[in-house]
Order: sequence, then structure tokens, then C-alpha cells
Amino acid sequence: MPQNLTPVPSTQQSRSWPADKKSFSKTLPFEPGALLESKVMTVTASLSPEVLDRYEPVIGLEVHVQLLTNTKAFCGCANRFGGEPNTHICPTCLGLPGALPVLNKRAVEYAVLAATAINCEVREHSVFARKNYFYPDLTKGYQISQFDKPLAEHGWIDVPTRDGSGLSVTKRIGITRLHMEEDAGKSLHDGFPDSATKTYVDLNRCGTPLIEIVSEPDLRTPDEAYEYLTRLKEILLYTGVSDCNMEEGSLRCDANVSVRPRGQTKFGTKAEVKNVNSFRFIRSALEYEIERQVELIESGGRVAQETRLWNANEGRTYSMRSKEQAHDYRYFPEPDLPPLLVSGAWKAILAERMPELPEARRKRMIAEYQITMQDAQTLTATREYADQFETAAKQARSPRRVANLIQSELMGRLKAKGLDLEQSPVTLQGLVQAADLTESGELSSKQLKGLFDTAFENGEDFGPVYEREKPQQISDPAALEKLIQEVIAANPKQLEQYRAGKKTVAAFFVGQAMRLSKGQANPALLNELVTKHLDA
Ligand SMILES: [Zn+2]
Repeated sequence: MPQNLTPVPSTQQSRSWPADKKSFSKTLPFEPGALLESKVMTVTASLSPEVLDRYEPVIGLEVHVQLLTNTKAFCGCANRFGGEPNTHICPTCLGLPGALPVLNKRAVEYAVLAATAINCEVREHSVFARKNYFYPDLTKGYQISQFDKPLAEHGWIDVPTRDGSGLSVTKRIGITRLHMEEDAGKSLHDGFPDSATKTYVDLNRCGTPLIEIVSEPDLRTPDEAYEYLTRLKEILLYTGVSDCNMEEGSLRCDANVSVRPRGQTKFGTKAEVKNVNSFRFIRSALEYEIERQVELIESGGRVAQETRLWNANEGRTYSMRSKEQAHDYRYFPEPDLPPLLVSGAWKAILAERMPELPEARRKRMIAEYQITMQDAQTLTATREYADQFETAAKQARSPRRVANLIQSELMGRLKAKGLDLEQSPVTLQGLVQAADLTESGELSSKQLKGLFDTAFENGEDFGPVYEREKPQQISDPAALEKLIQEVIAANPKQLEQYRAGKKTVAAFFVGQAMRLSKGQANPALLNELVTKHLDA
């Protein structure tokens, strides 16, 4: 094994999960690392209603999450992505003879926090076990994991989905277990001049603390799987136990999928789809796989129990290896670690560190600021942004208007520029200022839009743009009344409707007068004067 490898760009590194590496990937039709290429065209199979009428997909997900501890699970090596290959290593994470593991307390705290956040029961007494298998990037020859006594079980998360008639409903997806384990190293199959004949090994990742979260086979559509993963990632990010960065492999997902004729209770034979590197690709891979299995059954074939890999480039899955024979990992209790005890008192201390989770936060914010569910979804996309919004909103005359502005003025412009909410040139302070000026009637909506356009063109915040441009406003009642009289005279039919009792027509006159003023009329004063003239 070379000691100091030339670092390779991260997109060229293979990040396959050790358990799938029973066969060397030289025998694969393509490299798992190739899935990371974002520029590839994705062919998305879309499930036809006829297929879903006759067959029911059954999906279960296994998610591996790296914990954000400073050091590794069982030694003092730095737990950091990347770095010069084979430099964050020691006798313990390499499994050299005589080295003994010492459990990282912070890793346990993070695992308990994550388990509690997804409503699992945390066992007081769980046991580490050795999972034995050979792979070049697992120098120990075994992985420390948990087997029959995992840290936590019987959890759930609620996921938005649609019922048979297309109505939005919430579905509870069961979580079978959450257990702790350690990551393996990485085999680098490409990026070197001699990659055609050699595989390099980087052991920096060996011993990185992981949690594995296994769902019940409760998911029935690729969309549900996508929502489940989105919610799960959101919850984990809120707890702060992981950065869930899929590009760097901090969150990895394998999917088990089978189909059965509707009405049949027995599960069909499942295939496992591995190493899909984005939630969008997982949805596409599941769609493809469901169609493939149905076609196979319809044509008289039989679904094989196997591991398959998704090729995003071609929009299809490929058989990687058969799973007809169950693996024998020869699990046994890890002799170098005592059972893990998590007392009720410790759990109580950790529970106090639990932040408000996304679903609860959305409910509270809707009630507190009278905002819509869509507003709340946008605002709580990350915990940091939700915090910033709440701090800013407390200074605004109307927090609801701030939320509205994000939806009406920010999101479209950000999308056009390909920016995230956090990258917006208009800060929350800028939004609060804009909302207050609109609330007080000092800015018309047309003027507001103009200022936002300028801010986005120049990459400036709202404040400086407003100070420079200070849009003129007509606040002279006589000037406004002249406009109003003109509009009323030009629209006798609408005036008749108004006087016949259709009071909503007032908005039409306000709009016309605003247009005549080129968007410069003081909106509050204009409203007041229009009503006065219509009622005269
Ligand atoms: Zn180490």
C-alpha cells in the first residue's frame, strides 16, 4: 500500500459502501464514482398508472450517516473528510495487533440524539458486534457494528404523500432500527496514471463514526421514498449530528425494492439498489427498477435477488452481484468493547439538548406569524435560515409580510440566477426594511419590484438601493384626486357596478389610478381617496 498518494479530486474518488465490495469494481460495467458527474443527462422513467394499477411497489431504505465528531469512533484520529491520503490513521483504526478501541462518547451522544429525533426507543443496554468480511480498504478484516442489540429501535417519521384519490395526506413511515458502526476506508479505482491496472487505498475514512438507519418496508412509491429521505435529512441537519453532505459521502442510501400484484400480502423478491448519490437519482432508480421488475414478471420471468447499481448516464440499473446466498458475516459480540449503557439520566440530559425539530417549528411559525405552510417550508429549509428569519422578523412591523416578500420577490429571482436562499444579495435585514416600507404605504408594489430588480442586477442589498434611488411618491391629495377623477370618468360601467353594491370593484379603480401615476402614488392614501370618491 503506497503511503502518500497523490490527492485526487473528490469527484473521482469512489465512495462505495464496504458491504457492496464483494467483487472488485473492475468487473463492473462502470465505476460507482461516475455517478457523481452532475453534467450527465438523466433519463427519468416515469411510472405509468397502468403499472401501478396492477402492481404495488414495496420499498425500504437503509441510510448511512457519518457523525460530525472531532475524532473517530474508537481512536483519537481526526474525523475529517479528505486530507493527504493515509495521514489520519493509527494502529487502532488500522486494526494492528494489540491495539484496543475506546468508544467516542460524543459519537454515542450524537447517535442517541438522532435516534430520539426520529422517535426511536433507545436501548439502555446495546452491544457492539464484529461484522467479518474481507476488503482491501478494511484492513481489520471486520467492521465494528451492532447486530442483535442495536442502540435504538421502533421509530418513525411522518412523510407527506398523496392518497388514492390524489389528496395530500401524511403517512407514518416506520423505522426498524438505528445502530452505530464504523466506516471503512476508500478504494480509489481511478485518477492515477496506472489506474487501469492498479487500485489505490486511502484509509483516512477507516473508523469514522456512522449511524445506520433502516426503515420498515412501508414506502410504496418512489415519491414517498424521496420525501422520506428529504425529511430524514432535514431532521438530522436540525439535530446537528451530521452535515449530511452527499457529495462527500456523509449521507449514503441503499434502497430495497420489490413489486407484488395488488391484493397480495406476501412480498415479492427484492433487489437492492446501491450507492445512488442524490435523492433525485434514487427516485429515478426506483422508478426504473419497478418498471423493470413488473415487465419481467409480466413476461413470465422471475425477479432475482441481487444487488444492482444505478447508472445515471443511461437512466437504468445494472446487476452487480447475486444475493441468492445470504452473506455470513459471522457476527459475534466485540470482545474489546463492553456493552454500551445509556442510562435514563443520560438520555434526559441529551433530551434537553434537542432543538425544536422542523415539523414542530413549522407548526409554531405558522401560528406565530400567520404565514402559510409554503412560507413555513421555505423558511425552515435550514435551521440557520429559520433562526435568522425569526430574529429579523421580530423587528419587522409584519413578519407575515417579510415571509410574503421572500415568496413573491426573492424565490423567483434566486431561481433565475441559480442561487440558494442563503446566497441572496437581499438579506433578511433588507427584506424587513422593504416589508416595513410597503406596510406603511411608503412604497408601492411596483416601486418595490423595481428596487428588487436593481438589487439583483447589481448584487446589492435592498437598503443601499433604496437609499440611492428613493423612488418618488405622490402624496399630494390634490394630485391623486385628479388621477382618480380621470379614472372614474373613463370607466362608467365599473362605477355603476360599484354603486350597485359590488364593493370589490374599488380595487380595479385603485389599480388603474396607480398605473396612471406610473406606480408612484402613495398606496395607502390612494386607497383612502378612491373609496371616498366612489362613495361620494
Ligand atoms: Zn485512528
